[in-house]
Amino acid sequence: MVLAQLGGSISRALAQMSNATVIDEKVLGECLNEISRALLQSDVQFKMVRDMQTNIRKIVNLETLAAGTNKRRIIQQAVFTELCNMLDPGKPAFTPKKGKPSVVMFVGLQGSGKTTTCTKYAYYHQRKGFKPSLVCADTFRAGAFDQLKQNATKAKIPFYGSYMESDPVKIAVEGLERFRKENSDLIIIDTSGRHKQEAALLEEMRQVAEATKPDLVIFVMDGSIGQAAFDQAQAFKQSASVGAVIVTKLDGHAKGGGALSAVAATKSPVIFIGTGEHIDEFEIFDVKPFVSRLLG
Ligand code: GDP
Repeated sequence: MVLAQLGGSISRALAQMSNATVIDEKVLGECLNEISRALLQSDVQFKMVRDMQTNIRKIVNLETLAAGTNKRRIIQQAVFTELCNMLDPGKPAFTPKKGKPSVVMFVGLQGSGKTTTCTKYAYYHQRKGFKPSLVCADTFRAGAFDQLKQNATKAKIPFYGSYMESDPVKIAVEGLERFRKENSDLIIIDTSGRHKQEAALLEEMRQVAEATKPDLVIFVMDGSIGQAAFDQAQAFKQSASVGAVIVTKLDGHAKGGGALSAVAATKSPVIFIGTGEHIDEFEIFDVKPFVSRLLG
């Protein structure tokens, strides 16, 4: 179920509930079941869906509501609040400040859109007056450096990488030193997304993070990965303390529910979403407007 459909299904469940002559336990139960079904079909983790039901039932206690209270509104409000809570871990992500050197490291599986997103993130900040720079610390995938170089050149963003060096930690540290000297105020490190084994990849992330001490680690997730999102996000969170999430490919047939799971697994907010392959197809993510739009 793509995001727009998810919103449509939830809105329909709420509308059906609103059309009922009397709002009783049965009507509320049916409405919550419909919403849960829609969320599960959008790949939201089962536990999150169950928690959402419990939380809404805590807010909406039909028996104790005074006569004359607008039950429909209370239920609608509770659903809105719960969807927002699922997307809002309660603490904002680190935001770079112009003129104050920051290091941001990107992690995520190969194909998630990590390299593309690094450039989008750099370009976004460049337009805001930052002096961003890009470091390619992916030595596993042949062609990774070329891709970053191409993207960076197009956007006129300084970049650093090596065709010869095989140690990603060394490249990351060299890149940092170079761009610190050049007074870049936003040094972005792109890392590998694949290894012979996942454990080796996660260990590499830990080492790069330890050597570069990033102010922020961003986990990049393909919006269409579905139920695998939670475990994947949690694995990265454990190796390099992820502080923010970017969900890519939300222009396509992504189910989007994975975003909710990634937030839960990393306890970090979604800060941007990718909505296309082009460098400016990149949007700031704000929970309330997003949920409002979702519900139509
Ligand atoms: P990486 O392996 O994680 O570095 O992924 P890449 O940056 O190479 O991206 C993999 C593919 O996804 C490329 O074809 C990108 O153009 C594409 N891609 C990345 N972000 C988006 C997005 O937001 N929307 C769409 N439609 N494609 C994207």
